[in-house]
Amino acid sequence: PGSGAEGEAVSGAQLIAESLKAQDIKYMFGIVGIPVTEIAIAAQAIGIKYVGMRNEQAACYAASAVGYLTGRPGVCLVVSGPGFLHALGGMANATVNCWPLIVIGGSSDRNQETMGAFQEFPQVEAGRLYNKLSVRPSSLEVIPAVIEKAVRTSIYGRPGSCYIDIPGDFVNLQVNKSSVKYVECCPPPPVSMAERSAVSEAAFLITRSKQPLLIIGKGAAYSHAENNIRKLVDLSGLPFLPTPMAKGVVPDNHLNCVAAARSMALQHADVIILLGARLNWILHFGLPPRFRQDAKFIQIDICAEELGNNVRPAATLLGDINAVTKQLLEEFNERPFKYPSDSEWWKRLREKIMNNEERSKELALQKSLPMNYYTAFHHIRELIPKDCILVNEGANTMDIGRTMLPNYYPRQRLDAGTFGTMGVGLGFAIAAAMVAKDQTPEKRVVCIEGDSAFGFSGMEVETICRYNLPILIIVVNNNGIYTGLDADAWKEVLKSGDPSTCVPPVSLLPNSHYEEMMSAFGGKGYFVKTPEELQNALKASITDKQTPSLINVMIDPHSERKKQEFPWLTRSSL
Ligand code: ADP
Ligand code: MG
Repeated sequence: PGSGAEGEAVSGAQLIAESLKAQDIKYMFGIVGIPVTEIAIAAQAIGIKYVGMRNEQAACYAASAVGYLTGRPGVCLVVSGPGFLHALGGMANATVNCWPLIVIGGSSDRNQETMGAFQEFPQVEAGRLYNKLSVRPSSLEVIPAVIEKAVRTSIYGRPGSCYIDIPGDFVNLQVNKSSVKYVECCPPPPVSMAERSAVSEAAFLITRSKQPLLIIGKGAAYSHAENNIRKLVDLSGLPFLPTPMAKGVVPDNHLNCVAAARSMALQHADVIILLGARLNWILHFGLPPRFRQDAKFIQIDICAEELGNNVRPAATLLGDINAVTKQLLEEFNERPFKYPSDSEWWKRLREKIMNNEERSKELALQKSLPMNYYTAFHHIRELIPKDCILVNEGANTMDIGRTMLPNYYPRQRLDAGTFGTMGVGLGFAIAAAMVAKDQTPEKRVVCIEGDSAFGFSGMEVETICRYNLPILIIVVNNNGIYTGLDADAWKEVLKSGDPSTCVPPVSLLPNSHYEEMMSAFGGKGYFVKTPEELQNALKASITDKQTPSLINVMIDPHSERKKQEFPWLTRSSL
C-alpha cells in the first residue's frame, strides 16, 4: 500500500490511474472528452497502455477481449451520457460471455445533478442491468477501494463486467494522500473444487457410458485448463466437441475431435460432460430433438446458479474447471479407464467426419468464379500462420469460418459469442494485437469479417494504423447481409424506383472497395476476385510483419453454407 507524505496532494484522475495500476491493469481503451481526458493522461503517465478508439462500443469490446485473453480485466474509459450509452453493448456482451471488464465513465458534476447538466444521465442505475457491479465512489478517498472491489468482482465467481461512475468534479479535485484508503492488488480468484462424491459419480457415469461426449466450452478456455483437459482426452480416449470459442483448448486436429460430426455427436451421445459450456441456444438447450431424451449430463461450472438450467444434470460438479478436471484425472488414475477406440460409437463418428469433410472439400475445390465461401476459406487456411489469433464474425463468414479454419492453441478464436454480437471484430483484433505485442510478439492477428460485420466498426481501421498494429483484416464480401446482389442485378433493382422502396434490406453496395479504407490511412489494401489474387495478397500481407493490411475478397453473392441437417447459428434453428 502506498502512503504519501503528510500534506502531499493527489487528484482524482491520478488516484484512478494509480489504483488501476495497483490492481495490475495493463490496458485501457476509450475515447476522451469532458470529463475523462485527464484520467487517460494520468493512466498513460503511470505506464498503463492507452488506445484511443473511434467509438466507445468498439473500445468496450476491445477491453472485454483483454479480460478473456489475459484473465485480468481491460478498462474501457468513456465520457458521460452518450459515451456511456455507446459502451453498453460492450458491457452486455462481456457479461453475457462471462468475461471480466471494467468500465469507467465520467458523469456530470455533482452540484449540477438533476439540473439538466451537460450529458447528464442516470448512469449508475442504467449500468446495473449490464454489470455485476455498478457503483460510484462516495469520495476521492475511497477510489482505490472501489476499484479493487470492481476488479475483484469482475474476476471472482462467474466473470463479468463492472461499472465505476466518476463525477466530473472528482477528476481534478485534490485530496491529501494521507486520507486516502489505499488497497493492495487483489489476488487471482481462489480455486474451488467439486465434492468428492460428485467426482466419483461423474467418473462412474463416464465409465458406464456407451456413447460418451465431452463438450468443451469457452469457460474451459478462460480458466486455462488446456493442459489438464488435453490429458483427460488422451487418457480417457473420449470424443470431444469444442464450442466455437473453445476451439484450440485441445487442438482441432486431435484425433478425438468430432467437430465435423457435431450434429450426430450431440444427437446420439448418452453421457455428456460439459466443461464450461452453458446449455443455452448454442447447445440447443440440451433438449430433444438435438439431444436424446435420456441423455445424462455431467455439468462442470464455477457458477452454482448455472447448474440445472434447462436440464437436470446426473452429476453436478461445482468448481473451477482446471481444478475439477484434475480431480477427474486423479479419479481415473485410481480406477483406470479408457474408452475403446474400436467401439461402434467411434466407428459411426469417424464415418460421419469423413463424409462431412469430403463435402467441404468438394465445395472448396470448385473452380467457378466468383469464388464461394469454401474456396475463399480454403486458400486463407492454407496461407495464414497456424498459430495466428483468429477473429471471425459475420453470418456465413463466421459459421463457415468456424468449420473451415482450425485452431491449434487455446484462446485464439474470438467471435460473436454467446450474445451473437456483430461488430465486435475490429475491437477484438485491436485488443488481441495489443496483448500479443507484449506476450507473444511473433503471433499475428487475422481478422476475418463479413462485409456487413466489418461495417459496424470500420473506422477502427484508422486506430489500427495509428497504433501501427500489424493486423490482417480479410473482408469476405458478398455485397450484403446473408446474401447480396451482383452489380447487374443491382442496376436492375435501381431501375424500379427509389432505393429505399426497392433495394432488398439485406443488400449492401456491390463491389465496395473496403480495402481503400486501409490504404487511406497508410496500410496496404488488396481487392481480389480470383484464388490467385487472393493467394498473392495473403502471401504479401503475411510476409510484411509491420504493416496493417486489408484484403477485400469478392465472393459469389449467392454463395451459402452447405446444407445443414440442423442449422443452429440461426434463429430459425429454434
Ligand atoms: P460456450 O459459449 O463456449 O458454450 P458459455 O459461455 O456458454 O460457453 O459457458 C461458459 C461457462 O463457463 C459459464 O457458465 C461460466 O460460468 C463458466 N466458467 C467461467 N470460468 C470458469 C472457471 N474458471 N471454472 C469453471 N467454470 C467457469
Ligand atoms: Mg456479407
